[in-house]
Amino acid sequence: MWEIISSQNRYLTQKTSILPGIGSVRADALSAAGFDTIADLIACPPRKYIHRKTAIPLSEIEDGDDATALVRVVEKDYIRKGKRGNLRLLVKDESEEAVVLFFNAPRWMSGKFSRGAELLIWGKAKRDGLGLRFAHPDFEFSSESEKKLIPVYPNSKRLVDVRFGQKLRSKIILGILDKMANIPDPVPEVILDDLGLPRFSKALRDLHAPADLKSLESAKRRFAFDELLLLQLVFTLRKKRACEDTQARPVKPGTLFAGLKSALPFKLTDGQNRALAGILESLNSPGRSMLLLSGDVGSGKTVVALLAACAAVDSGLQVALIVPSLLVARQHADFVADIAKPLGAEIGLLTGESGSPELIKRLLSGKIDIIIGTQALLSPKVKFKNLGLVIIDEQHRFGVKQRLTLPEREGAHTLLLSATPIPRTAALALYGDLDLQVLRGFPGIRAGVKTYLRDESSRPAVWDFIGERIKTGERVFIVHPRVEGDDFSAATVGFENLQKRFPGKTALLHGTMAETEKNRVFADFRTGKSPILATTSLIEIGVDVPEATVVIIESAEKFGLAQLHQIRGRVGRADRPGYCILLTGKEKGSRSWNRLKTFSETNDGFEIAKQDLIERREGEILSLSQVGKPDLDFADPLRMTELLENARIWAGKIVLSDPELNLKENSGILRGLYYIYSNTQIVESAI
Ligand code: ADP
Ligand code: MG
Repeated sequence: MWEIISSQNRYLTQKTSILPGIGSVRADALSAAGFDTIADLIACPPRKYIHRKTAIPLSEIEDGDDATALVRVVEKDYIRKGKRGNLRLLVKDESEEAVVLFFNAPRWMSGKFSRGAELLIWGKAKRDGLGLRFAHPDFEFSSESEKKLIPVYPNSKRLVDVRFGQKLRSKIILGILDKMANIPDPVPEVILDDLGLPRFSKALRDLHAPADLKSLESAKRRFAFDELLLLQLVFTLRKKRACEDTQARPVKPGTLFAGLKSALPFKLTDGQNRALAGILESLNSPGRSMLLLSGDVGSGKTVVALLAACAAVDSGLQVALIVPSLLVARQHADFVADIAKPLGAEIGLLTGESGSPELIKRLLSGKIDIIIGTQALLSPKVKFKNLGLVIIDEQHRFGVKQRLTLPEREGAHTLLLSATPIPRTAALALYGDLDLQVLRGFPGIRAGVKTYLRDESSRPAVWDFIGERIKTGERVFIVHPRVEGDDFSAATVGFENLQKRFPGKTALLHGTMAETEKNRVFADFRTGKSPILATTSLIEIGVDVPEATVVIIESAEKFGLAQLHQIRGRVGRADRPGYCILLTGKEKGSRSWNRLKTFSETNDGFEIAKQDLIERREGEILSLSQVGKPDLDFADPLRMTELLENARIWAGKIVLSDPELNLKENSGILRGLYYIYSNTQIVESAI
């Protein structure tokens, strides 16, 4: 909650120990849990809310569940032990009975429960031979909880040990809210009014002590908006900065571009032509371009990017092409060199950590036009004469900082190629600073892939199929989820067995092998010397071997959908049809099986990308590396389309009217930006 933490309110920045009910023991436990100041405490939203409607029948509660039940007291026992005693309640609802235990409970507590009383209990359930039990659950008498939403905060064992329970916590938080002077709302009023969002102090109260579901929802919406607004502001500022970058030089296609285009063994598809035109137009307009080319696997992004590279060379600029593995770097270098060298362009391949001194010199003197390599190219040690375009293939593997630094330093345009097609909403949420170019359709010659789902017991038949395919000069990948292991999920095991069956024809390739070894193995596969490759998801990215027609995926359930789609995209790239065979040990009809089944029935990369995003958690998508430190506690950008769109619009308006965020009404937002993105150079680079 950046609104609170960045507010610098005097009261809120004080230590928790000044609060009534918090002595040094509790303060220490709170501090260990990450709550040093009052602000920390109040900025932590409840994890969930208990309400009568969240109760489930006792009979449906399983061992270990964190459950809520609405029950009636049937019996009560209190066994005194000195001043305190053990309290045991027998409770029931329509479905079953349960035992509720409070050890070491004061006597007055026992007095609170009377037979027949209805109460809401919530906490961890235990179920074994003795039946269903709750030890020290939280509770509320039903009459008090009729309409109420009871906040439940994330807890730690240490906090439980110092008796900093939910009730005390709620009480303390309410106390803080009462004492807290009005924090000025960091978001300008016009925006809140336009979107019908509650004021900050109201939203904060509704979050901790909601009067009803409706006010809770609108409080959450408010905080979600605040998060999205900051995110979109960063994007907008960054984009603006790029547009105004006078260091960047325009790119115009010339002879090398024309040469490559006519030397291609094929004609560009309509989709490629359209995407290329869009990219060239942007590269030729004033400012530094930040482009994202998104298209399905095999749609032909590489050629489009290489043509853009040639246009940059034609304009007297150097190009850096960054790919995720050396394997792919080499593959691109070979392809480009074949065509570009005769046309007079110099191609370099950066192999080691920072390249040979010789290579570095040639880069610095401008002798090399296109340098291809892995992220080693992003190192500050690598210097250029006049870098004009940075192309990053499979960009999702690189962090935002990585992709920003080099182009900003050199005033170079960026063209990112995305591994998976990105739905528009996701693109807005994740890459709001980039201009999206979508590449639709496939090269006509592409025969495509058919996908089959098989039980592991079919492995022998599948291997017979491998035998048939390699007879006709085709190549086969067998992809494993891991390298080492003792079953067929491991590449080494797969390799040993395949080698017995296909002696002399099988090779092993995985990430931990030495670079030279990898190159040798891959070259043998490419030429057909060893047409069967036992490997890992290493080949997921960018590998292009036209003769590859079969990919078998072991323990396919272990892979994400987008990843499966990428792996499948390695075959059927040329005129021979591809086969993707998913092997799994999961039972027919199980959730895993059905998930793979659905995957095997669709070929639409955009649809799969959507499913994949739904499968993954937000945190993963908006991982730290993507946007800095996003802290999205409330916002779910992929589902809150309307709010996201509004955040984008308002971010645009703010930056347009107050580009440096100097106005008083925007001071809260500026503080928030600094707070959230302070660990990164993002704000600095944006403003
Ligand atoms: P991706 O979009 O997955 O990066 P690639 O750029 O690797 O796809 O292209 C896939 C394959 O299609 C490559 O072998 C490439 O040479 C070929 N290709 C690209 N464009 C065309 C085209 N217009 N016609 C025929 N083949 C093409
Ligand atoms: Mg590619």
